[in-house]
Amino acid sequence: MQQLSFKNRIASNYLITTALLIFVVFCVIYAIVRFSINIKVNNDIKLEVTKHLREIEVKENCVLLIREKQWKKIQFNKVDISPAFIQFVDELGALVDKSPNLKQKQLSYYPEAINNVLFDGKLEKTSVRQIQVPLYQDTKIIGFMIIAMSVEDSVMVLNNLFIILVIAYPLILLVLFLIARFIAGRSIKPISSIIHTSNIITKDNLKSRIPLPINKDELHLLSMTINNLLDRVENAIEREKQFTSDASHELRTPLAVIKGTLEVLIRKPRNQEEYKEKIDFCISEVNRLNLLVDELLLLARFENQRQSLKMENISLNALFLDIISRNASIINQKKIKCEVLSAKDFYVETDAYLFSIVINNILTNAVKYSKVNGLITFGIIEENDNIICTIADNGIGIASEDLQKIFNQFYRSKANEHPEIKGTGLGLSIVKRLSSLLQIDLRIESQEEVGTKVILSFSK
Ligand code: ADP
Repeated sequence: MQQLSFKNRIASNYLITTALLIFVVFCVIYAIVRFSINIKVNNDIKLEVTKHLREIEVKENCVLLIREKQWKKIQFNKVDISPAFIQFVDELGALVDKSPNLKQKQLSYYPEAINNVLFDGKLEKTSVRQIQVPLYQDTKIIGFMIIAMSVEDSVMVLNNLFIILVIAYPLILLVLFLIARFIAGRSIKPISSIIHTSNIITKDNLKSRIPLPINKDELHLLSMTINNLLDRVENAIEREKQFTSDASHELRTPLAVIKGTLEVLIRKPRNQEEYKEKIDFCISEVNRLNLLVDELLLLARFENQRQSLKMENISLNALFLDIISRNASIINQKKIKCEVLSAKDFYVETDAYLFSIVINNILTNAVKYSKVNGLITFGIIEENDNIICTIADNGIGIASEDLQKIFNQFYRSKANEHPEIKGTGLGLSIVKRLSSLLQIDLRIESQEEVGTKVILSFSK
């Protein structure tokens, strides 16, 4: 069974069940026909018994036929499909009289047979159904009336039926197997196209999709699921390609800038001031490069989700204050006011290290995109069993059409309008990835020139 193809396996399973069913049906048909024939013969014989008992009388130990001539004439002229043979014997079984249709033949008397009960006997070589009815003079048995009917025809009918059923059985099974195999083959045809399509799909050819079967059945669902999977794989590979080309572009840009600056610098001798300015510029580019490499490594690390989470109960208020103090220098540079608004101390179950990366990125963005003397507000509230943190600034804001794109890697909104604000376009991608890893719901609301609010919601 293991080596059989799927198609043949379905057909075989179907066949085994059907074979058992047909076998039972055939046995029932045979049994019913046999039973009906037996009942018919038995009833016919019993009818004959009652009829002939009325036509005899017993006198002085002798059985006399009333109107013997007519009786014999009727018996002789009767054209019956299965005639009844009648014979009278004395108490010892010796022949007394018999119906003319027996001709030279004689019915056997079976002394061991039970009186008045039908049994199978023989008339020479012919099979008969027979009954022996005792005839009484007062209470003494003086003889028997034997009535028999040939069952040759019934036996022949039953034999023919048996042969027909035995021949029909394997033929029906063979036809059913072929039909089941054909139908199973047609039903699993989509699987062949799944195999075919899977075979032609390679890393460079992810465009092919499995043609969907017309019937909306399990195979339709399977094909659709595989097609969706292929869509996701294609998207992931496409994103990976895009990320690699963006990353190499982003890495090359500061390198090219540094190289160009240094080449110009060594072309001719320069004064101290010029050297300092260019070298400071190169250092800031190297710092940017450093930050970029750090962020790329962070993204790559969580791309593979190798980092196992260390969940612990942390105080949100304490974590916010800690991150504010870590960024004190850039906050003070811009004279930004930072406040934490919370009615009480809030605790959440999360990975402290990863969550501090999330908050740090959001805060550094808020500082970067805030104006001098800005205000950054951290809020913590509890709503419908959820703890909601908000980090709001009153900075330059984000254009509504860019709100969807800011989570894309390397996407920077208004980069040209504010060339003084440096960035990699990776910060929010990291925030998004870590939030989903920590199962934090992340949303951003923003209005240009009004400010930006990042909302993080922990479900309990
Ligand atoms: P970047 O390194 O450019 O800051 P991010 O991924 O952190 O990269 O942010 C993507 C873009 O989203 C930024 O370029 C900026 O345009 C916008 N952005 C993020 N945070 C803020 C904010 N608080 N206020 C205004 N714009 C923001």
